[in-house]
Amino acid sequence: MKVGIVGGGQLARMLALAGYPLNLRFQVLDPALDACAGQVALLIQGDYSDEIRLRQLADGVDVVTFDFENVPAAAARLLAKEVAVYPPPGALAMAQDRMFEKTLFWELGIPTPTFATIDSLEELRSAVLRIELPAVLKTRQLGYDGKGQWLLRSLGDIEPAWQALGSVPLLLEGFVPFQREVSVVAVRSRDGEIAFYPLVENHHRDGILRLSLAPYPALTAQLRQEAWEYARRLLDRMNYVGVLAIEFFVLDGHLIANEMAPRVHNSGHWTIEGAETSQFENHLRAILGLPLGSTKAIGHSAMLNCIGELPDLAAVLAVPGAHYHAYGKSPRSGRKVGHITLRADETETLAAGLQRLLPLVGFSPDAFGVG
Ligand code: AMP
Repeated sequence: MKVGIVGGGQLARMLALAGYPLNLRFQVLDPALDACAGQVALLIQGDYSDEIRLRQLADGVDVVTFDFENVPAAAARLLAKEVAVYPPPGALAMAQDRMFEKTLFWELGIPTPTFATIDSLEELRSAVLRIELPAVLKTRQLGYDGKGQWLLRSLGDIEPAWQALGSVPLLLEGFVPFQREVSVVAVRSRDGEIAFYPLVENHHRDGILRLSLAPYPALTAQLRQEAWEYARRLLDRMNYVGVLAIEFFVLDGHLIANEMAPRVHNSGHWTIEGAETSQFENHLRAILGLPLGSTKAIGHSAMLNCIGELPDLAAVLAVPGAHYHAYGKSPRSGRKVGHITLRADETETLAAGLQRLLPLVGFSPDAFGVG
């Protein structure tokens, strides 16, 4: 069987790497000639609005999927006429706009921060009075890794925030004084079977994920139940097929939804070594109509992102239980170029290994209070 992927970044690359043992073949569409999935799959170089290239991607494949959510709606529609497309284009459209996304959460009874759409400075001023400060002003579309966001602490921040972001549709959200950020990765098959990975604890710096701990060390039955129930509602409502990730804030023992990603997710990379079936393999199983694999965690895992440059290979491999993943990308400031997964049977071993790995990716051993 053959899979087409819109986008040829590291997610497409890891999908292909997971798919080869299943006897799958891959072709990816990406505007960049050096897209890193092109090292492990046939690369069709072209723009996402290029109809000829989109048809070429769909030609001869059993299914088309995505490695990012901001695929132009017209491209998803065109592909869906040619071939099966999963996740469904409607789910992409939901995730592309924070207002649609939050409205869907709200309709499904999934708690979110209070929010208001903002299209003028006057609307921003009156929304600030209703929502109260601190609050976070975000672009509705095309925000990622904390880009396109402004934290409003005082009334004096309104004007500069509007100047910085106000040229596009915005959303104002109440600031959540959360204790932790967590995420859940779930997968739904073509016939509606659903499986969930354990909840994961995430640590960001400058809006970029740096460390995930899986399973979430402070997991409670209540949090697990909420995460799985909210994921189930979203998957069923969108008639979803494939992997879906949802990011939450933990506040006083309950979850508040931040956003969802209709694709395999950075906070699920630990599943390659840390779960019985990786998120990448399960996404492929789901979209190809194959039985899902077990999402059970094998012991404890920590995933560290490598941002800007790769750490020394030998130094990482010297840490027992550490697994090195280079994405084949050239180093550049702020770019995700690889990750390390540390797997251990005991939490003490995990903590000891993390203390050795954190300095290799630019942090002190106690940077996240978990080493
Ligand atoms: P996002 O792009 O929406 O995932 O936001 C990036 C990061 O900003 C999140 O991981 C949080 O750390 C922080 N953040 C976003 N929205 C809020 C909020 N409403 N309250 C508190 N922190 C937030």
